[in-house]
Amino acid sequence: MRLPLADRRTVGAYARRLLTQYRVPLTAVVGIQALGAVAALAVPWLVGFLVDEVTAGTTMEVVTRTGLLLTLALVLQTLLVGIGDRQSRVLGENIFAQLREEFMRTVTHLPLSTVERAGSGDLLGRTTNDVDRVQWAVRFGVPRVLVQAVTVVLVLGAAVLASPLTALAMLVSIPVLYPVARWYMKRYAAAYAKSSEAWAAVNGEITETVEHAATVDALALGGRRRRRMRAAVQESWEREDYTLLLRAVLFPGITFGSVLPTAVAVVWGGWLVSQGWATLGQVSTVALYTVQITGSMAELLMWMDEIQVAGASFSRILGVSEVPSDRTPGGPEPTDSAIRARDVRYAYIEGRDVLHDVSLDIVPGERLAMVGPSGAGKSTFGRMIAGIHPPTGGRVTVGGANLVDLTEERLRTEVALVTQEHHVFVGTLADNLRLARHDATDTEMREALAMVDALGWSEALADGLETKVGSGAVTLTPAQAQQLALARLVLLDPHTLVLDEATSLIDPTAARHLEQSLGAVLTGRTVVAIAHRLHTAHDADRVAVMENGRIVELGSHEELVRAGGEYAALWESWQSE
Ligand code: ADP
Repeated sequence: MRLPLADRRTVGAYARRLLTQYRVPLTAVVGIQALGAVAALAVPWLVGFLVDEVTAGTTMEVVTRTGLLLTLALVLQTLLVGIGDRQSRVLGENIFAQLREEFMRTVTHLPLSTVERAGSGDLLGRTTNDVDRVQWAVRFGVPRVLVQAVTVVLVLGAAVLASPLTALAMLVSIPVLYPVARWYMKRYAAAYAKSSEAWAAVNGEITETVEHAATVDALALGGRRRRRMRAAVQESWEREDYTLLLRAVLFPGITFGSVLPTAVAVVWGGWLVSQGWATLGQVSTVALYTVQITGSMAELLMWMDEIQVAGASFSRILGVSEVPSDRTPGGPEPTDSAIRARDVRYAYIEGRDVLHDVSLDIVPGERLAMVGPSGAGKSTFGRMIAGIHPPTGGRVTVGGANLVDLTEERLRTEVALVTQEHHVFVGTLADNLRLARHDATDTEMREALAMVDALGWSEALADGLETKVGSGAVTLTPAQAQQLALARLVLLDPHTLVLDEATSLIDPTAARHLEQSLGAVLTGRTVVAIAHRLHTAHDADRVAVMENGRIVELGSHEELVRAGGEYAALWESWQSE
């Protein structure tokens, strides 16, 4: 399964919306550039004038004056183009910043199950390669295309004004450029879409192999992964090869088509002069215009190519927002904090349920431990209770409201999942905390840190809360990162926590320290602990034993031991270890 692609209409509509939104600065940029282009038009015109004057025998004064005017035109052109370029880059940056923000908003709200199914490589490809390609086109392409299109129109007009007959020479480029451009246009869209896709596949193979390197090693999958990677690279190479062929035809075609008019203008113009239908100056002017237009045409077509590439990437980026949401916020508000699971089923792969009609009422304020063999479905069920995935069948409610009918912000104030994965985001310590609550004050953040016993080290950092952390800045220890995650929970303040092996990866001394921090966070909350050590179960109010996607036993430690079932056996074997 892959993430969807946006169709051409959606991409077109989105681009139009952007252009409309930035209409004013865009017009200003094009206006300035057009003035620059007009100043540039003066140069061939003045040269032509000079040629005619000199042919007729003129005074030194006229030559000097024309020379000065030429200089002035050049200076003016340089200034205007400089200002215009700067403005267009600023504009490009603004548009791109907006794009990136909109994209990030979409990405961070993607249903997790979709990302897991599509593989992170596809999404990663879209957030890196595709964003890069679009960025280039938006920052430089759009402004340059506008400028060069204006230039081409102005130069054509000026050439016709200078000498309509000589300007006919420009027509010879049409029979060359038209078929080449048509041939290319017919093929590019599919070719670039396929090449982007192949890139995403390479990305996927590599990230998945690297992320799960330990598994690859443990299962000796190295050879297989390498073969898959080689196949993906081969595929990508072939696709790239084809797009290269397209360009290998397009570019020489463009060059030939745009240089040809210059040669024709000189020969044809020479004949016109000999017949007395044009002056030497007019022919010089038009010939210089054909040279001027060459650059613009080449740049236009080059951008056309780049913009096609970007278009394919754009449809992949916009496609991400077409992933259907897995939740429909707007249901009733919870009336209390009791979480109930009713007949919950879940299938990662269609038709293969890993949970079979699991029902469970969590009593507010209790400690519930979930135990059972690996693969029994404990983590999956934990994710259902935390509202990470909507169940395939049945429902999980809090205070009568479906978890997945709450907004994400609201949901996280009800229940949160705590796992052993903790990520420090690049930014300040405060940024990392404000992820939980964007309006948290410094005092609240300090209180949260104090609660998890992290105020000491965080205040000792060079800039306190404003210290930059994460890769490339201050590196936090795994225990500190975990404390940061716990402080975020304090800020979120959910009444229920689902704990998945929260401290099992930390070294024992840090673990004891962390357990105190964790204890402070757990106090006063309902806790569902997915337990991997039975002493967690021993200390819990109730224990749920899970096996093959079902809860097979439920009761307090004592009750279950007395009942002499699965749990009693587990407990016995654990104690005799
Ligand atoms: P536990 O937490 O009890 O070890 P899990 O909930 O992790 O069990 O797994 C339950 C079942 O679901 C297992 O058979 C496991 O292979 C399967 N499973 C877990 N995660 C995924 C996934 N992302 N895709 C497909 N199957 C999965």
